[in-house]
Amino acid sequence: MADSPRSLPTGPYDLSANENPFAPLPGVLETVREAASGVNRYPDPACTELRAALARGLRVPAERVAVGAGSVALIRDLLAEYAAGPDGEVVFAWRGYEGYRAAVRLVGAVPVPVPLRADRHDLAAMAGAVTERTRVVVVCNPNNPTGTVVGRKELDRFLDRLPGNVLAVVDEAYRDFAAGPDAPDAVGTAGHRPGVVVVRTFSKAYGLAGLRVGYAVAHEPVAAALRARALPYGVSAAAQQAAVASLGAREELDRRVAGLVRRRALLVDGLRALGLHVPESHTNFVWLGLGEHTGAFADACREAGVRVKAFPGEGARITVGEPEAVELVIAAASRLPFLPAR
Ligand SMILES: *Cc1c(COP(=O)(O)O)cnc(C)c1O
Repeated sequence: MADSPRSLPTGPYDLSANENPFAPLPGVLETVREAASGVNRYPDPACTELRAALARGLRVPAERVAVGAGSVALIRDLLAEYAAGPDGEVVFAWRGYEGYRAAVRLVGAVPVPVPLRADRHDLAAMAGAVTERTRVVVVCNPNNPTGTVVGRKELDRFLDRLPGNVLAVVDEAYRDFAAGPDAPDAVGTAGHRPGVVVVRTFSKAYGLAGLRVGYAVAHEPVAAALRARALPYGVSAAAQQAAVASLGAREELDRRVAGLVRRRALLVDGLRALGLHVPESHTNFVWLGLGEHTGAFADACREAGVRVKAFPGEGARITVGEPEAVELVIAAASRLPFLPAR
């Protein structure tokens, strides 16, 4: 359910899937090598050590934590548990993360996409889209693919409006790249609400996309339901141990995130200097709402050896990756036909 399959690399820079350009965090490779020597054994199905490490860091009981083979696995399981079947409606913002629509269809529920407003969640419209059939609402914060955030007060007001039987899933895959007083932290700001589940991943800031590990923080019955649904032994020992090691490398993680955030500013500034509208990004990617010009831009990027994620007719999402790629993307954008000659 990740973005479209990448079978044929089109260039040396793949900026299409919001992956991290860095090598694994310190200690992670050693840990994975060690885990590799034990592949004749099943991993710990309860992910005890990782759940304990997460619970400590988040200051919640381990009973409130569930671990899955990537956060998409947890999102699928949440929808299967709480929204499956044709009477179940799932409200989410659109354009949003592709994985939601796919997961809703997979469980036979009814997707209720609510258009973004100026690249941001339209929470008033989302609350208005809730009916007696609504089972789950998803808030992607920050939003993929536009990079915008829902403020803490805004989120609180929205959650206040939801009926008690509706589960709110807050997907914080990119929270590490957001800063300031509105940086998403629904575990802290909304974790006391029994109807809120926060899902996070080790795939983006932590750079472990290939190992498949994410987690959810929820009230105990919801976390228990997720643990009961989890694919047995679905999270490998290498993934569990790499995640624990990554949690212990906070300083280096912060340094890398800060570096990517500076690189993001270069990309945003370069694109804005061309006269393009770029929404403020709180993630490791940048959104260009190019409409009908999206294909031409993606083609120009491909010619320059850069793969971006194009949503034809809407826009392109560009991951903040290798430093050299920033210049290549800006150069490709500068050739967009509607820009004033320079
Ligand atoms: C990448 C992404 C995920 C999926 O992460 P995995 O943990 O790799 O499954 C989930 N939600 C959003 C919004 C994402 O962009």
